[in-house]
Amino acid sequence: MEGFLEVSRKPDGRPEIFHSIQGEGINTGRPAVFLRLARCNLACVWCDTKYTWDWERYDPGDQILEMASVEVEREVLGFGCKYLVVTGGEPMLQQRRLILLLKRLKNGGFYIEMETNGTVLPDKVSPGLVDHWSVSPKLENSGNPRVLREAPACYNLFGQLPSCQFKYVIQNEDDLEEVDGIVRKYHLPVERVLLMPQARTRQVLLDKSRWLAEICKARGYLFSTRLHILLWGDKRGV
Ligand code: SF4
Repeated sequence: MEGFLEVSRKPDGRPEIFHSIQGEGINTGRPAVFLRLARCNLACVWCDTKYTWDWERYDPGDQILEMASVEVEREVLGFGCKYLVVTGGEPMLQQRRLILLLKRLKNGGFYIEMETNGTVLPDKVSPGLVDHWSVSPKLENSGNPRVLREAPACYNLFGQLPSCQFKYVIQNEDDLEEVDGIVRKYHLPVERVLLMPQARTRQVLLDKSRWLAEICKARGYLFSTRLHILLWGDKRGV
């Protein structure tokens, strides 16, 4: 229903809307309000928010809270922080429902960052309504077939948007060849491509970071950490 959003629900039943610090990408370190929306069109094997979409393991009745966008707006405003990160799941599945909320917050002086897997074309939400697109297309290591994870129309559009960064989750050497191939194929500007280690614990993150930092130095990509893992570990809603 337009104007209503399917928000992820925390174990205490409250919506997963929380104040934290952006832990990934070029805005790492910025205090932000996070709005986590339910459902995803992909199924990454290492996904750390499976409760937003894996209905074999989780009950959507427990995990999804339907909220009017004015209610979501009230929750967001309650934190007194004018930086909103819309995340998921895949938030662009709800792009039509998001328009009202994003317009109202934008008019109220908010900076809006959208985290997306880059498979849903922004044809309802105008790209200009979002200040920063954090696009994280998935590689073969995600377990999703190419036909689902690689959307040429999205690559072509996002590649032209200066407000967009591409962030790839890297597990091993093979992933690097795949990223290089995609960058060449879609003419992505290397200075807007980030490599981020796949890790859910501090130790794994640190170990892989040392390896990946050297690769970024050699190939000119940006490096992204996962600051929230370093600070709080694999915890939800922080
Ligand atoms: S695209 Fe994101 S939310 Fe969806 S399965 Fe992959 S990691 Fe999880």
